[in-house]
Amino acid sequence: MPCELKPRFLVLYGSQKGQAQSIAEGIADEAEERGLFADICCLSEGHKVKLSKTKYSPVVFVVSTTGDGDPPDTAQKFVKRIKKKTLPRDLYAHLCYAFLALGDTNYADFCKCGKTIDSRLLDLGAKRFYATGHADDGVGLELVLDPWLEGLWEAIREALSKMAAPQPERDGHVRDQRVSSNETPESSATDIKLHLLSLNESESQITKSLTTAASAKTDSLAVLASETGSSVNDLASLTRSLPPLSELALNIPALPPPYLDVMLQEATIEEEINAPVSKETLHEVPISRAVQLTRDDSVKTALLIEMDISSHPMAYQPGDSLDVLCPNRASEVGELLRRLGLEDQKSNRIQLSLQKETMKKTAQIPSYIPENSTLHYLLTWSLEIRTVPKKAFLRSLVECTGDSGEKRRLQELCSKQGSADYNLYVRDHNLGLLDLLTAFPACQPPLSLLIEHLPKLQPRPYSAASSSLRHPGRLHFVFNIIEFPACAGRPVGRRGLCTGWLSDLVDPILVHPGKAQSSSTPALPKVSRGNCSFRLPSDLSKPFIMIGPGTGVAPFIGFLQQREKEREENPEAEFSETWLFFGCRHRDRDFLFREELQGFVASGTLTHLKVSFSRDTPEGTETQTETGPRYVQHNLLSHAKDIVNLLLKENGYLYVCGDAKNMAKDVNDTLIEMVSAELQLDKLDAMKRLAGLREEKRYLQDIWS
Ligand code: FAD
Repeated sequence: MPCELKPRFLVLYGSQKGQAQSIAEGIADEAEERGLFADICCLSEGHKVKLSKTKYSPVVFVVSTTGDGDPPDTAQKFVKRIKKKTLPRDLYAHLCYAFLALGDTNYADFCKCGKTIDSRLLDLGAKRFYATGHADDGVGLELVLDPWLEGLWEAIREALSKMAAPQPERDGHVRDQRVSSNETPESSATDIKLHLLSLNESESQITKSLTTAASAKTDSLAVLASETGSSVNDLASLTRSLPPLSELALNIPALPPPYLDVMLQEATIEEEINAPVSKETLHEVPISRAVQLTRDDSVKTALLIEMDISSHPMAYQPGDSLDVLCPNRASEVGELLRRLGLEDQKSNRIQLSLQKETMKKTAQIPSYIPENSTLHYLLTWSLEIRTVPKKAFLRSLVECTGDSGEKRRLQELCSKQGSADYNLYVRDHNLGLLDLLTAFPACQPPLSLLIEHLPKLQPRPYSAASSSLRHPGRLHFVFNIIEFPACAGRPVGRRGLCTGWLSDLVDPILVHPGKAQSSSTPALPKVSRGNCSFRLPSDLSKPFIMIGPGTGVAPFIGFLQQREKEREENPEAEFSETWLFFGCRHRDRDFLFREELQGFVASGTLTHLKVSFSRDTPEGTETQTETGPRYVQHNLLSHAKDIVNLLLKENGYLYVCGDAKNMAKDVNDTLIEMVSAELQLDKLDAMKRLAGLREEKRYLQDIWS
C-alpha cells in the first residue's frame, strides 16, 4: 500500500542519551509493519510540525527526564513554550495523544518532564487516547514499556477509526472514548491495566509487583531445587531455561530492520590510537597527583586525582562536575575483534552507508562515529561495548546463530514470557555483548549490527572536590573503583570501565597512605561540564547542611575550602552555621578527608561534623547497636530539631550528594519524617514542604547510581 494511503500518526520524542529516541524510532518502524504510517520528529524540531494545527493527530510522545528533573536539552524549548500561561485553553483541543514518560525513581522528580508536558497538553484541551506510561530506568524500563507498547497499537487504531468516523461532539470537540482528560478509563481489561500504569502513585507498586513476580519465580525455582537436592544454577542459567518457559509459545518482538552497510577499506594512513581531543570540548590534562584515600583493607578503594589545569583556562566552581572520557579496555576490544573474526582488519577504515532498501524509517548514520575511523578506533572510542544489550539487540542476535538451542534461548530472553529471565541473567548482572557472545559461541553477528545497537561511549562525570581559591590551577576529583564480582555469565570479576581505567592510569604515581609520591605525570583526556544549581548559597549568612557519605563528600570538600578562603578574606563578615553529615564503614579504614574535615572544624569553617560508621561498634559497646547512628540518616534524625529549624525557619540550604539508589531515598524519607514530627504535619504536607524547598533550589541533590 503506498504510504500516503495508510492511516497516519505522529511520533514526537525528547531524548537526552538516545533511549527515548530509540523507543520512538521503534514505534515508527513497527507502524510500517502494522499497516500504518508514522511521521517522527524530535521535539527540538517541534515547530516544524505545528501541533496546534489539526493535521497531526493522533500523536505519540516519548519523553525522558534528565538531571534534577530537567527536560532533555532537545525538549527544553518545547517545555518552555507549552508552559506559557498566555496560551489559549483550547490550543490543542483537536489533538489526541498517547504519552510515554521515561525516568528513574532513583532520582527526585521521577518523570518530571513527561508529567509536565502531559499535564500541560491536558490543560490546553488535548485528550489522551491511551493511558500514560511512566517507565522507570531504575528497575528496568521494559517493566512498563513492554505492556505499554503492546497496548499502543490497538489504541492507535481505535483513535484513528474514531477520527475517521467522529463521535457526537461535545463542546465542539471530538470526544475521546478511551481515556479522556478528566475521566477514569472505561473498564475493559486493557484499560484497567493501562490506567494503573498512568497513576503516578502506583508506579512504584507496579514495578515492585512486576519485580516481585520476577523474584517470586526465582524463589519457586529455589524451592524446586532444594526439593530435588540441586542448586538453582544447575537448573536454569543464562543459556538454559526451565519449564514452563522452555515449553511456552513465545511472543517475541519484531526483528529490528537492519539499516547499515559497513565496508572495511585497507588503511593508508597511520591509525589513530589516542583519544579524540578537540580544542572546543576535550582537553588532555596532566595529572599532577593521585592519592589512595582508603586503607588497603577497606572494602572499597577510593582514589583522589589532582589535575593540573594551569595551562587550560577552565574556570570551575565547587559543585561543578567534569566529564572524563575513557577508552574501552584494550583486552575487551581485542577479544571482540577476535569473536567477530575481524582481527586482521582492525586497522582498516570503516565506511558506513545506509542500506538502500532498509525498512527502518529513521535510519541515520550515527553522528558520533568519525568519518574514516579505523575499526580499532571505533571499538575503542566510539561504542559503549559493555552496555547491557537491550531486548531488540537480543532479537537481532537470534538471526546470527545457526544453533537451534541458542536461537531458542535468545528468543526466550527477548520475549515477553522471558522478561524475568532477562532481568535475572542479563540486566541485573550487568552483562555485556562479549559476555553473551562467550555464552552463545555459535552466535556470529556482523559488525553492522553492533554499530546499529551499541550506544555511544559516554564520558563519566565526577564532582570537583576542590576550590580553585584554595588550589589555583588544580582540580581534584574523587572516586571509588567499581568492582563487578564474578557471576553466572561472567566467570571473572571486572572493574568499572572508567574507574578501572583511571586506576591503571595513575597506578605508577599513586600515593598510598603513608608512602611517597613518584614524579611521572600521565595525561587525562577530559571535557568539562557545569552543574549550575549545585552551588554554595550566595548569601553568606544563610546556614547550610551537607549530606555526603563516602565519595559523596567530594563537592563538600570544595564548598568548605571555598568557605574557609572566604572567611580568611572577610574577617569582619558574619558567616552562617554549617553542618556536614558524613558516613563510611570504619573510622580507620575509609573515613575520607578525615584530617581536612577536622581542620575545618578547628578553624570554625565547619560548625558541626556528624560522622556515622556503619560497621564499627560504638565506643564502649561490643556490638553495633540499633540505636547507634549507623547511616547518615540516623544521625540526621538525632538532630531533627536543629535541622528542621535551620531549613524551614532560617531559610537554610540542604545539599545531598552520592549514591542515588539507597542513600538519597533514605535521606529523603527521613527528612519527611523529621518535618512531619517537628512541625506536626501529616506526611503529605511534610512532602509538600520539601517539594517547596526543591522548587526554591534550597534542597539540592547531586546523586548518581
Ligand atoms: P561502569 O563500567 O560504567 O559501570 C557503572 C555501572 O555499574 C552502573 O550503571 C551501575 O549499574 C553499576 N554499579 C555497580 N556498583 C556501582 C557503584 N558503587 N557506583 C556506580 N555504579 C555502580 N562517582 C564517583 O565515584 N565520584 C564522583 O564524584 C561522582 N560524581 C558524579 C557526578 C554526576 C553528576 C554523575 C551523574 C555521576 C557521578 N559519579 C561519581 C558516578 C560516575 O560518573 C561513574 O558512573 C562511576 O564512577 C562508574 O563509572 P565506571 O565507568 O567505572 O563504571
